[in-house]
Amino acid sequence: MNPFHIELRTLPAEGRHVAGTLPPAFFDLAPGDSVQAASPLAYDLRILREGDSLHVSGSLEAGFSLQCGRCLERFPHRVRLENFEEEAPLENESTTDLTELVREDILLALPSYPRCEDGNVEQRECPAEGKFERDDTPDADGLPGAERGIWNALDQLK
Ligand SMILES: [Zn+2]
Repeated sequence: MNPFHIELRTLPAEGRHVAGTLPPAFFDLAPGDSVQAASPLAYDLRILREGDSLHVSGSLEAGFSLQCGRCLERFPHRVRLENFEEEAPLENESTTDLTELVREDILLALPSYPRCEDGNVEQRECPAEGKFERDDTPDADGLPGAERGIWNALDQLK
């Protein structure tokens, strides 16, 4: 049973507390997506009706595997929303489904252009860092970054 599928008739006036886990499939990500759910979703929420909307508050946590846009390697990233708070308008007088709201809020908390250094599970240096991207900060020898990148690339040919 989906805990985010709220039947208003059975929702107590003082609200309902729901806590537990849901399998990674909850996020409905395609196998080829650069974002993959890597752990169950842990939820701990209070759901309260306030007039024409549901007030949802609590915490959400889930683990993901992201693909670095620079080196294309995968790295783990955890989303923790400790003070999650949302108002969901009632869909009708009988049921309201909070699934999309929860799913989207968690996915929106992921970096939009993931890079290795965004990983918050393990310290990670991007293996492609500085190799292909132009930057014009001179290094100790006074070479601009872009040129330094070329020299690094040439070094690897030796
Ligand atoms: Zn990387």
